[in-house]
Amino acid sequence: MKNQLKYPSEERSESHLKPFQMQLTWQFDEMPRTLARRRAPSPGRRAVKPAPRFVQPSLPLPQPVEEGDAAVLERRIQAHMVGRLELTVTDNRSSIISVKRMGGVFKVRLHHMFLEAEPRILRSLGRYIEKADAESSTILEQYIEAHSSLIREQTPANRAEELRIRGEVYDLQELFDRLNRKYFSGGIKARVTWGRENPGPARHHRTAKMGTYSVEDRLITIHPALDRQFVPRFFVESVMYHEMLHQVYGAPVVNGRRQYHSPAFLAAERRFEQFHMARQWEQENINRLLYF
Ligand SMILES: [Zn+2]
Repeated sequence: MKNQLKYPSEERSESHLKPFQMQLTWQFDEMPRTLARRRAPSPGRRAVKPAPRFVQPSLPLPQPVEEGDAAVLERRIQAHMVGRLELTVTDNRSSIISVKRMGGVFKVRLHHMFLEAEPRILRSLGRYIEKADAESSTILEQYIEAHSSLIREQTPANRAEELRIRGEVYDLQELFDRLNRKYFSGGIKARVTWGRENPGPARHHRTAKMGTYSVEDRLITIHPALDRQFVPRFFVESVMYHEMLHQVYGAPVVNGRRQYHSPAFLAAERRFEQFHMARQWEQENINRLLYF
């Protein structure tokens, strides 16, 4: 889930622009590696964003999957679907479920942890592949969580060590914990990290993804450009709060389109105390923000 800062600079001088056009627009990149991050498929939209480097599999251990097992699993999931399924079983640590729709076919890559899944899980998989509704997402998340040892056993280093929680200005854990208490009664379960720094000298960017949330990893990533003295705490919090909401709202399909920012999501977003302040600050500081 991408939270993308957009600033079309050639439009900047036009005075008739509505203020909102200069503001943060929340956008999604297709990110099939992420459980609820799948976009409503559309023709010509096949670009797959590579996973952030820090969650890339370091050494996926070869664990050959019997072709027969995969075929059986495909049939069992297919039984719960209307569309056609083409299943590949993988041992890819960074992608537990990925779904691509090509023509009328759902091409799904699935971690081998599902080989042993009970019928209830297979039903949810079928529903998730076609609809990705909140209920099936939740059931699958729980299943993945319960079977995460199958993934983590293979991790040479503890992933937590790769997280960069404490920045130079802001400690993301502290921000997260405060927001979690204040707005979610401590109910959000996620890890947080600063994203990777841009290599090379600072320059002006046209856009930047200020925050992302990966359902599969339950990981919120905040852009390191926000870890600077001139960026107020409430702005960093507004980005974090937005990403936390994605855990609450999932990505329901409405009229055939996946809705990441449903009306309910957007209403909840406004419950952030400094919502308007954050928008305004961003508008006034967009150039500085995009220089990193
Ligand atoms: Zn979002």
